[in-house]
Amino acid sequence: MLFMTLPLVDLKRRYLSLKLEIDAAIKRIVDNSSFIKGEDVILFEKEFASYCHKAYGVGCANGTVALHLALLALGIGKGDEVITVPNTFIATSESISYVGGKVKFVDIDEKAMLMDLDKLEKAITPKTKAIIPVHLYGQMVDMKHLMEIANKHNLKVIEDCAQCHGAEQHGRKAPYNDIGTFSMFPAKIMGAFGDAGIIVADTKEYADKMKMLTDHGRLDKYNSAFEGYNYRLDTLQAAILRPQLKKLDEWVARRRKLAKLYDELLHGIVETPFELPGNKHAYYMYVIKTKKRDELMKKLKELGISTGVHYPIPLHMQPAYAHLNLKEGSFPVAEKCAKEILSLPLFPEMTDEEAEYVAECVKKSV
Ligand SMILES: *Cc1c(COP(=O)(O)O)cnc(C)c1O
Repeated sequence: MLFMTLPLVDLKRRYLSLKLEIDAAIKRIVDNSSFIKGEDVILFEKEFASYCHKAYGVGCANGTVALHLALLALGIGKGDEVITVPNTFIATSESISYVGGKVKFVDIDEKAMLMDLDKLEKAITPKTKAIIPVHLYGQMVDMKHLMEIANKHNLKVIEDCAQCHGAEQHGRKAPYNDIGTFSMFPAKIMGAFGDAGIIVADTKEYADKMKMLTDHGRLDKYNSAFEGYNYRLDTLQAAILRPQLKKLDEWVARRRKLAKLYDELLHGIVETPFELPGNKHAYYMYVIKTKKRDELMKKLKELGISTGVHYPIPLHMQPAYAHLNLKEGSFPVAEKCAKEILSLPLFPEMTDEEAEYVAECVKKSV
């Protein structure tokens, strides 16, 4: 068998696949020096919102501030409990603390590794004000069920869509409900050449509030209605993202094709990802499970294949959340999954031969 080296994602190949468009976009912005609040920001907001079938898009600096802005727009504040999962990137829970809210975790289900909606209902208290479901790895939480629970208890919902550009549920693009936040960190399904993010929404009041918050609460240049932030999306990043949006459906289709290939080749060898009925998984990450995870990771590395663990330490077990006093055993499913998960290389520019090589290496390593 030949030897290949394969990264987890290959940003260089992504750039090369769109080099002409991206180079032209960069040149255009540099030539007219419209670095802040340029036309491309407005155009990207419109195009991305329209792609998601949402009325409004609000570009912002990254996916973390996108969550912060959404919580502010919904009026979540001091002492309000916000429920999310422990198996996400810390940005999700950090945003809750930014507004003075209380982070409340609920465990996940073992198959899809998404928020366990049976446990969600039990975690709700009179102080609970919002839920942040995380559409992890590119797959959406069962939103019909989640919205029934949210509506019954009069809770706001913000969908963390940082990993699910182009994902769908019952033919509906993410986010399913009113507000969804996206990250365009370079390695995400769509990636800026630096940090970038966007929020999409259907409610004008929320969109207007968030847009103003990104730019110091300004009414005009030297007149602010309220204190805001400098959370703007750079024109250059918006211009680099616009050609990527045109490719998004094609990229997601290719990700799904590679995932199906892995599914077939790895069936019975390791536990392959579970796609919930009605979901169109975007496969931001192709996450397998095996009891021999660390061993497999090491062997694959020796064979030239980079893998990742998303994420190795559940949030409640990190020093940042020691004050919550949630000991090991608090969220047994998330803790168990964290020990068994492994993300294999998957990106649209990867060839079938490369996926076959990875699968072959997994087979001989477990
Ligand atoms: C990447 C990510 C974020 C944060 O996005 P940044 O652009 O890096 O700030 C938030 N939530 C999830 C689930 C993510 O994967």
